[in-house]
Amino acid sequence: MKPNINVDAAEVAKFSELAHRWWDLDSEFKPLHQINPLRLGWIQEHVSLAGQRVLDVGCGGGILSDAMARVGADVLGIDMSAKALGVAQLHALEAQTPNVTYREINAEALAQEQPGQFDVVTCMEMLEHVPDPASVVQACSRLVKSGGHVFFSTINRNAKAFLLAIVGAEYVLGMLPRGTHEYAKLIKPSELASYCRQSRLSIEGMRGLEHNPVSQRYWLSADTSVNYMVATHRDECQA
Ligand code: SAH
Repeated sequence: MKPNINVDAAEVAKFSELAHRWWDLDSEFKPLHQINPLRLGWIQEHVSLAGQRVLDVGCGGGILSDAMARVGADVLGIDMSAKALGVAQLHALEAQTPNVTYREINAEALAQEQPGQFDVVTCMEMLEHVPDPASVVQACSRLVKSGGHVFFSTINRNAKAFLLAIVGAEYVLGMLPRGTHEYAKLIKPSELASYCRQSRLSIEGMRGLEHNPVSQRYWLSADTSVNYMVATHRDECQA
């Protein structure tokens, strides 16, 4: 298998360019820092992370990886941006985060190397940046143990998501750099659900992540029309 298959170099380059700002709480990554306690809490509603072997796919600068390690998980973060990984590693060193390591490899290649090795896999805000998201979902399913948990988050594809997540966030409010998200790559919940089903991942729950740009507050809700997260578990293998 070619190690760089299913990687869009231009997408990865966007994140490499901003790499030094991953841990700047007022940077382009502010939204990820703001939603981090919400998504961590939601993951912990499904699984207790302490002592679990966790893989964070497309970890970037390690915002979620670091937080999961801090609540006791043993975390491996993977990404295809060497610069983002360098920043993640440096942060772990400076903040003395226990039990977190980072590695430049994509999910498909790691799935060949370490199938069924993780109790929990997270893949947040990443599927909308790859050429073939179904292939990443399948790799996540191969990487998790039978019965283990896999969590995804991404952005829905419809007129409201286009207006809020692209026009609003990138062009009106300037929260994200222009070109961060491409409309055609956004993923409907029904599409993600179908990728999960094809990969033997059963859906346990779905939550929307809503945002008020005036108060700058985020909260979880049943409204999955823009940002949303999906909790799944790998179907038990038949003996
Ligand atoms: N998951 C992190 C970062 C999201 S930003 C968080 O939510 O905090 C998206 C990340 O996906 C970037 O770091 C980018 O480099 C990474 N990425 C894009 N394509 C990738 C691929 N094919 N394999 C692994 N990582 C990828």
